[in-house]
Amino acid sequence: MEMARQVTRTLREHSYYPRIEEITAYPRGVEVVIEGHTSVNFSSNDYLDFAHEPRIVEAAATALRRFGLGAGGSRLTAGTQEPHVRLEARIAVFKGKEDAVVFSAGYLANVGIIAALAGATLKGVISMLNGGESSDTSLEVFSDQLVHASIIDGIGLTGSKTSRAQFRVSRYEHRNMDRLEFALRRSTAARKLIVTDGVFSLHGRLAPLREIVALARKYEAEVYVDDAHATGVFGENGRGTPELYGVEDGVDFLVGTLSKALGGAGGFIAGDNDFCDYIRVAARTHMFQTSLPPAVAAGLVVAFDIIRDEPERRRTLLRNAARVREELGALGFNIFGGDTQIIPVGFGSAQNAKAATHMLLEEGIFAPCYYYPAVGPDEAMVRVNLTSGHTEEHLDRLLTALARAGRALSVIPEGEPTSTGDVQVVEALAR
Ligand code: PMP
Repeated sequence: MEMARQVTRTLREHSYYPRIEEITAYPRGVEVVIEGHTSVNFSSNDYLDFAHEPRIVEAAATALRRFGLGAGGSRLTAGTQEPHVRLEARIAVFKGKEDAVVFSAGYLANVGIIAALAGATLKGVISMLNGGESSDTSLEVFSDQLVHASIIDGIGLTGSKTSRAQFRVSRYEHRNMDRLEFALRRSTAARKLIVTDGVFSLHGRLAPLREIVALARKYEAEVYVDDAHATGVFGENGRGTPELYGVEDGVDFLVGTLSKALGGAGGFIAGDNDFCDYIRVAARTHMFQTSLPPAVAAGLVVAFDIIRDEPERRRTLLRNAARVREELGALGFNIFGGDTQIIPVGFGSAQNAKAATHMLLEEGIFAPCYYYPAVGPDEAMVRVNLTSGHTEEHLDRLLTALARAGRALSVIPEGEPTSTGDVQVVEALAR
């Protein structure tokens, strides 16, 4: 206990403890009320403005009255409820697969699925059923250095349940395909699994999925993509980065979240019936966790319908991203070379980034800051997340406030913006 108190005090003394704003009302997707003042929200992953979409909220409210607040237990023990079944069927259709499994959070999906893929969970049972026989299932995971914490934790859980002879991890430098190939070439594991985010959530960069899939084919590896920030956003039908790059056939395991563009909560994986039934009994975070509130599941079914029926939302989102990227680049900001609706804005130091977030809030713009250890020591940033709900006027206000903060903190030069021509990727995606 004393250790915990000491840490908190040290963080506070150095102004390093994160400031967590209390949102007292959230009347519309892009507007939040903080300390009695309404601000335009650039902090949310609700990319398609679904969290407040009336058709989705209505479906959830109806289910709330029918099924109550909580699910009451895990699917395996407390039974599965009709909205969960409908949601999994709906996801399977969206992905063009036989089946899907829903988790209560994207975080839990990654942790549980990665450990399940290592085969650790049911090894004892299978060996018993097979009369003591077990095959060599040694697995090496190759993961991008900047994958999300939930993947790192999934790898950690796997390591704690598997012997060293059976499980290895190689982390390759962020998006460096030479390093990935080097590691694949020297691997002697019976099974190889490349794990990447589809969109890296802090820097807003896309993974080089075409190259990853080509290397997987060459070295007989399988590919796992955490498409948390791309599901519903990228690809002609919103199926994410594999669809965007035309490599859906080359991605073996595609995990999505229901908490970002889908506007609710949860995570999922789609696949054939046998694979999904395996995950249902092998992923510890599915078995030992109370399932998603049924009302959320019911709302999400409608969210998938809107993704299918209203592609214009995705286009508006990516057009917003293209405009903000172009104008921030022209102002002289470091935007870390990304390509998506997530736009990090470099402020150099944690102090600057915190000051910028504060200055923005004074002008009615809510955009959080990130600093070490969340990002590299030189990468302190204000991160701007765009949604399809932001209007041109919201973007004008954001850009004006950021320019003012950037100049006040001497992060960008005074004077007229200069065009950088740096936004071809996201512009092309918006078409
Ligand atoms: N993967 C990535 C890349 C993420 O950014 C996040 C959430 N920030 C998650 C997984 C976890 O998803 P959830 O918030 O639904 O638990």
